[in-house]
Amino acid sequence: MTVLIISGLPATGKGTQCKKVAADFGLAHLDTGDYLRHEIDRGSELGKEAKEYISKGKLVPNSVVQEAVDNMLKKRKNTQGVIFDGFPRTKEQAEILEKLCDEYNLKLQGMIYLDVEENEMIKRIKTRAEQDNRKDDQDPTIIKQRIDEQKKQLKGLIDYFKERNMLYKVDGNGSKEQVYENIKSTIDAHQLVRT
Ligand code: AMP
Repeated sequence: MTVLIISGLPATGKGTQCKKVAADFGLAHLDTGDYLRHEIDRGSELGKEAKEYISKGKLVPNSVVQEAVDNMLKKRKNTQGVIFDGFPRTKEQAEILEKLCDEYNLKLQGMIYLDVEENEMIKRIKTRAEQDNRKDDQDPTIIKQRIDEQKKQLKGLIDYFKERNMLYKVDGNGSKEQVYENIKSTIDAHQLVRT
């Protein structure tokens, strides 16, 4: 079973692209944020552990993420592959994923990183904030702070995959359709999804 990861900074279009890749290549779309919110709604033990972190916008502890990903993979034993959205977020989580892949005999193909210029990212965040009337995201200083914080976090993760020759940077600056074509070409050129 193929395991792919899609990653990027805020407003790089990860979620949208991930859904399309999953549908077109027959992969299960595994979104850890969605899964954790669902567990909170269900009132499960895992949800209870995750709740306080999520409500503060902090990363949940690795033990909780590991259990969540383990549960998600168990349910997908019969699919041809999965694409992760929102996981791993750190180098430590990439190590957790590698262990799980060994355990379940999965082939980790690599990480697609959506590379978007900072100006374009800020423009997209502002447009989204105006549409949703989110005051915090309309302030360029706050937006910049959030981008810088996440950049720091992602650095370790990017290096981890780069060192293993498993990092695929994709130009994420164009329209949704253009970006999807860039992703598709990368998947095809490197045979990232095996059937
Ligand atoms: P998201 O929907 O991806 O923005 O995630 C929502 C929240 O879920 C985050 O703010 C974290 O609290 C938690 N979360 C999702 N994925 C992870 C992860 N891989 N590691 C730690 N926390 C996560």
